Parts: sequence; C-alpha cells; structure tokens
Amino acid sequence: MIASSPAQKVNLLGLDKKAMQDFFIHAGEKPYRADQVLKWIHFNGSDNFDAMTNLSKTLRQKLSETAEISLPQVIYEKAAEDGTYKWLLRLNDGNCIETVYIPEKTRGTLCISSQVGCILNCDFCSTGKQGFNRNLTTAEIISQLWIAVRKLSKLNGIHDHAVTNVVMMGMGEPLLNIDNVIPALYLMLDDFAYGLSKRRVTVSTAGVIPAMTQLRAATDVALAVSLHAPNDELRNKIVPLNKKYPLKELMAVCREYFRDDPRRSITMEYVMLAGVNDKPEHARQLIKILSGVRVKINLIPFNPFPHTDYKRSDASTIQHFRDTLMQAGFNTTIRRTRGDDIDAACGQLVGEVHDRTKRQQRYLEQARKKVIGDAS
Ligand code: SAH
Repeated sequence: MIASSPAQKVNLLGLDKKAMQDFFIHAGEKPYRADQVLKWIHFNGSDNFDAMTNLSKTLRQKLSETAEISLPQVIYEKAAEDGTYKWLLRLNDGNCIETVYIPEKTRGTLCISSQVGCILNCDFCSTGKQGFNRNLTTAEIISQLWIAVRKLSKLNGIHDHAVTNVVMMGMGEPLLNIDNVIPALYLMLDDFAYGLSKRRVTVSTAGVIPAMTQLRAATDVALAVSLHAPNDELRNKIVPLNKKYPLKELMAVCREYFRDDPRRSITMEYVMLAGVNDKPEHARQLIKILSGVRVKINLIPFNPFPHTDYKRSDASTIQHFRDTLMQAGFNTTIRRTRGDDIDAACGQLVGEVHDRTKRQQRYLEQARKKVIGDAS
C-alpha cells in the first residue's frame, strides 16, 4: 500500500516498476512516467527531482511534495589490498549494515545485505552472533547497489559498469525477508534500472523451503544454498534451520528447482571447517545426498572471527575434498578468500545492530524459536 500523505513521503528508491506505475496512476499521472523516473534514479543515479529534466516543472514540484529519494549514509569505506571494498551504511534508525565489492578480471561482484543481523545463528558465522534487529526495506536493499555504483564510478579506472554481478550473501537471510527482496531483485534485472542478467544475480539461502518455492515462482535468478554439512546430525548443529527444514526435504526442493531449464544448476556452498565437515566420509555422504540434483559445489575456506573455536581446513584437505567430488562428476570450485584484511570475507560482516537491550534479547529468542522451531 503506497500512502502519499505529505507527512510521510514515499521513498521512490524502493519501488519496482509495477509499484512505481501504481504510484503515478494513483497521483493521476501516466504510467510511463515510471520508466522515466526509474531511469533517473537507478540508471543515472539521481537523488533529486530537479535533475529530472524530461518531467515538467509542475510534476517535479508535485513529486518533491509527496515523494523522496532517501539513501542510507555512508559511514566509512575501506579498501583491501586486493581491491575489495567494504562500505558501512547507516540506516535512518541508526542501525548499520555492510556491503562488499569484489573485483575480478572479468567481473565485479557486489555482496549485499538483506537484514540487520541474522536470526539463523549458524555456528560458524559472525553475523549470527550479532543478533537480529529487523528486515531491510526494498529501498535499503537496492540502495546498496545504488551507492556502490556511484562510489565506484568516482574511483580511478573503474567505470559505470563496475558491478556486473550481485550476490545476496551479505548480512541476513534473504528468504526470511522475501517480500522486500523480490522487488529489489526486479529492480536489479530491470533495463531501466540496473539491467543485470538473471544469471548474474544470486540469492543465497540456508534453506527456507517455502520461500524457495515462492522465489522460484516470482523470478528465475540464480540460487545458492548454504549446505555446509552432508547429514542432518551435523547440519542441525552448524545450521540450526536444518531442524525445521531437514536435508531430505531441502534436496527434494533443489531437485525440482530448475526442472524447467536443464541448463541451470544450483550452487551448493560448503564451508570448510577443520575436523568438522571436511573428512573423506563427509565427501562420500555429500556425493550421495546430491545425486540427481543439478549442482555446482563451491567450497568456502572458513573465515575466522573473534571468539570462534572453528578453524579453517588446511589447503591439502580442501584440495582432496574437491578431488573426491570432482571424481564423482561434480563441478567443484574453491572460493578464493577476498578482502580478509578488512574483515570483508564471507561470514565476517557484522555492521552494527542497534539497541541490543534485554527486551530485545527476549524478542530475539522468541523470533528464533518461531523461525527454527522449538527444537532449537
Ligand atoms: N543467509 C544466507 C546468506 C548469507 S551468508 C545463507 O545462509 O546463504 C553467505 C555465505 O557465507 C553462506 O554460505 C554462509 O554460510 C557463508 N559463511 C558464513 N560465515 C562464514 C565464515 N565464517 N566463513 C566462510 N563462509 C561463511
């Protein structure tokens, strides 16, 4: 529901094409204005109505009375030695989130957050240890892309198309915020906004089964699943969401996910934790549970953070694990760790979860119970 009372202006940054058209129709304007304004905001990077010269002065005036283009504030930008960038963004309510840019030879990947903190509490992830505050709005999700594109275009040698890929692998579980994530995905794909290809936009999930089905019905962007363990006993421990959505059910959904497009596969993420999930028997179990599922496997060397007992598997163990999977016919890659000198690597994003009072701790426990179930 888009309210356009003068007291509460609509933040146009968070409207996908359909919502933008509805906004203009509701304002008594033609729906094609949506494309014009999307292009101004996302393609051209405008954050004020005065710059929108193909709109009449009267319309610009009307817009400035009922709407706004409101962005989070960039608190800091850190650059790693390998060219990785990390931004800390402060939201209107004081919470902070992190966004990471990872340049490679032929592409530039932006890793964006979907929630303030995360409720899932995976044992090896520092975001989970921060607690959870709230879902990001669509505007807050897409603003990470808006900001990164603008920032990068100002840096020497990086042009406007520095961001070729987006992965929803920052803070949070995107599929627990699916209503706000889907319009943001639509904006990423929209030619009037960012025009990214569906294969270059990836949603990563720990396996929220009903939302996976909902996502697939809404869009065919790429999917990554944080698997991390080949049996329920171990997965219950390191990815507690598994108690609610166990492996058998998860694999059944994965088997069906791209059934209508045989060229596509799901990326299975598997963090390599020394002595925990990296033994030959784990590789064998993995081969078994993944049989018949079209996957690529991405092994992620564990990135340590303060107060964790986990250790990264050594390089030869990771190699050996990969070789076993490859011999069984699975396309398997090892993720290169990037940006670890600025704590920008997977699982190291913390942002800042505001106001962690006792009341909030209780709220957190209740919310976690609701998502993961009583077993947690
Ligand atoms: N909630 C989503 C997306 C966020 S995490 C999900 O679970 O997929 C993005 C990826 O980084 C996930 O595969 C996650 O399990 C992994 N990850 C988390 N902590 C990590 C760490 N310390 N080292 C390496 N990978 C980690």
